[in-house]
Order: sequence, then structure tokens, then C-alpha cells
Amino acid sequence: MSKKETIYIIGGGIIGCTTAYYLTKHPKFDKTKTQIIILESNDIACAASGKAGGLLASWAFPTKLGELSFRLHQSLAIEYQGDINWDYRHLPTITLDADLTTGKDNNEVSYDMNLPPNLNWIDPKYVTNWTKLSEKDSTAQVHPYKFTKFILQKAMESHCITLIYGKVINININDETEHLQSFEYIPIMKTTHNKSLVSSSTPNEVNLTLEDKIILCTGPWVPKLLPQCPISGMKAHSITIESKDHMGGNCNIEPYALFNEIKLNDVDLYTPEIYARKHDIYVCGEGDNMTELPDPMKDVEVNPGECDKLYKYASMLSPIQIGQGQIIRRQACFLPVLNVATCSGPLIGETDINNLFMASGHSCWGINNSCATGKLISELVFDGEATSCNIDNLNPQLYFQVSC
Ligand SMILES: Cc1cc2nc3c(=O)[nH]c(=O)nc-3n(C[C@H](O)[C@H](O)[C@H](O)COP(=O)(O)OP(=O)(O)OC[C@H]3O[C@@H](n4cnc5c(N)ncnc54)[C@H](O)[C@@H]3O)c2cc1C
Repeated sequence: MSKKETIYIIGGGIIGCTTAYYLTKHPKFDKTKTQIIILESNDIACAASGKAGGLLASWAFPTKLGELSFRLHQSLAIEYQGDINWDYRHLPTITLDADLTTGKDNNEVSYDMNLPPNLNWIDPKYVTNWTKLSEKDSTAQVHPYKFTKFILQKAMESHCITLIYGKVINININDETEHLQSFEYIPIMKTTHNKSLVSSSTPNEVNLTLEDKIILCTGPWVPKLLPQCPISGMKAHSITIESKDHMGGNCNIEPYALFNEIKLNDVDLYTPEIYARKHDIYVCGEGDNMTELPDPMKDVEVNPGECDKLYKYASMLSPIQIGQGQIIRRQACFLPVLNVATCSGPLIGETDINNLFMASGHSCWGINNSCATGKLISELVFDGEATSCNIDNLNPQLYFQVSC
């Protein structure tokens, strides 16, 4: 019996999981001929994909990818009851400016900005300006951890996907033919507390046939395997809050996504984002690109001071629902950022090495852009070209060469 062609997806974040899902849904996918193996070094959605806010926007960048992916999220939500399974819902988004320098200790001060009446969980006291960025029809939200787990589960129902816990440590390319030759990974064992431990000090080597493919979906960790790739990680903290009005597991406040710019003093601005989600309130902070990316087997270290800062300023905007609420999670993760002046990323496509694909560098829109990324990769793999939208300018070969 001839060996099945194998597609190896490295990385079990939202991009690896949507890629697995759309590969199995492609009309040319034949499970008697092809199998898919996902290698994940820590846990499914353990990184940014499980810790993001989950905002979706039809205007997310890059434009064509963002728009297509927003529609695909909507279709999946209809097909699989996304409202129940991953908290999918539409919501308006507003930008809000606040100034803490005036009337800090003066209860009389109020700018009376006529906020939307149902945004009653924001105290207008410090608000100096606000604008509606988008109506309900063009922004929505998902719970990213629930979505990633669900879409992987759906993909696994095809019975042709194997999930292996292992950290890929190198990808070997034949110097003469410039074809993929093999890769090595360290097998990982999960403890009862779900920690990842190296289960064998000897790496496993997987030899590849000329038909086998690798799809690299390791987010900010891509350069650990392809050092020339101009992607890096930007650390960001976030907290989730059980609101004061939390009832029966529901957050119970009007859904809004808020992009805030808070003037702290004459020189400092602070720009947290606050999303009312179905079961919690999510607040995330600004990125920090000075912290080194940790080993992908390990959870990202949390700086409690950053989380307290998020809570402090979010509470000033929402003194009752957030201020009298309770922090449930303090977390940190890394955004995968493309360091190229002419492109915001992501990079989606085949590298200069035959059968070595990548889908990474999604920056702050990886949750939104995940579905289109998975679909386009499935087209590149089975049709040889991206047919759902033009992604020529996201071709990795324009930005770096693996072979040099
Ligand atoms: C605070 C914050 C808020 C955000 N909010 C939003 C939002 O509201 N909307 C939105 O669209 N986007 C948002 N994003 C962006 C989004 O989270 C990311 O773009 C997206 O999660 C990237 O997904 P990924 O699968 O590429 O990477 P990751 O989620 O980082 O997954 C990569 C996976 O690869 C694994 N891995 C790494 N190296 C190896 C290896 N050598 N071998 C095996 N496995 C490996 C890791 O363990 C990890 O599981 C936010 C990001 C942050 C940080």
C-alpha cells in the first residue's frame, strides 16, 4: 500500500486550526490519499489565539482578507450555532476619549457627552469625545479560545487529523535539490495540571516524501524555524472581569467594543481596549516589543502591575460594572508582527522551498483573519492558487528567502 501524502501543520493556534478545518472541507481533499498531522508544543489556543479579545470587523486589515474572513465567520456561526458554541454576536464599536487630568477629585466634573443611552455601564464623567466607529453590521465578536477549540473539533470529525504534542526544533532542506527533506521534534507530555514537559530527550526525526507538505502556523515563533523570516513578537497583557451585574453566567451588560484613548497627564496617553463579551468583560493593553519571546512550550509570564493598571483605568471609565466587578484572569501573550515597511502582514503562501507553506504574522487581526487564511491555504495546497481573494502581496517570497 502506498504511503498517504501527509500535510504537517506546525502550531495549534487559531491559524493552524482553521487551516486544518478548511483543508478537510476543500472539494479536492480525499481522506483516502491525504492525512493531516498537527504538531503543537504546548496546548491548543494556549497563546494569543486563546487570550485575544475576539473582535471581528469587516474593515480589518488587510482589507480583502478582512472582509472575506468576516463573512466566513458569519457563515460558520450560522452553520454551527456560533452564538451558543463560541459566543458569536454582532455589536457596535466606538472610540472614546477621556481626560483624567481635569476634575480628578471633583465629583461635579462631567463632560456630559451624550453617550449612547444603552452604554450605561460607562460613566461619562471623564469622557471628552466619542465617535461611532462601526455599527452592528460590520463588527462582531467571538470567544477566541472557544472558537479555536470548536473549529479543531469539527476538523477532527473528518477522522483524518492527528494531533501530536511536540516542539518542532528544525526543518531540514536538501542542499542540492532544495526540497524538504525532514523535520525533527521533541515529544511533549502533558502533566495532570496540563503543563508541558519534554517526554524524551531524543528528538524524533520525520522523513518527508516529495508529496508531503509543511504549513508553518507558529505565530511569532516562525523565525525560530525560519531565521530569515521578518516576524517578531509583541507582548500584550489582558484581564477578564466578572461584571458587578454578572448573573447566571452572563455578563449582562450591553455589548459594545470600546477603543479608548485616556489622557493621564500632560504627556501620557493610555489606550486600553474594552470589550463587553457574553460572559465577561475583556480589557487589553498596549504592546511591548522589548520582552523576549519565551520558549513556545512555556506559558508567557504575567506582570501583575500591567494587569492592575488595566483594571485601574478601566474602572475609572466604568466605576460600577468594572470597578465593583472582579478580575477573573490576568494573562499575557505575544502578537505576531511582520517587520516590513510595505506590508502589514500576514504572510500567507508557499515559501521559496517547494511544499513549505506558511501562514503567520497576523498582528492584531488574527482572530478575524483566521477563516480566510485557512480557506486560502487550502486553495493554495489543492488548487495551486488562491481563488477566494487576491493575496499576491502577502506572498512570503516577496519578503524573505528560506534558501539563502
Ligand atoms: C492582547 C491581544 C488581543 C487581541 N485581540 C484580537 C481581536 O480582538 N481580534 C483579532 O482579530 N485579533 C486579535 N489579536 C490578534 C490574534 O490574537 C493573533 O493574531 C492570532 O491569535 C495569531 O494566531 P496564530 O495561530 O498565528 O498564533 P498563536 O496563537 O501564537 O499560535 C501559535 C501556536 O504555535 C505553537 N508553536 C510555536 N512554536 C512551535 C513549535 N516549534 N512547534 C510546535 N508548536 C509551536 C504555539 O505553542 C502556539 O500554540 C489579539 C492579540 C493580542 C495579543
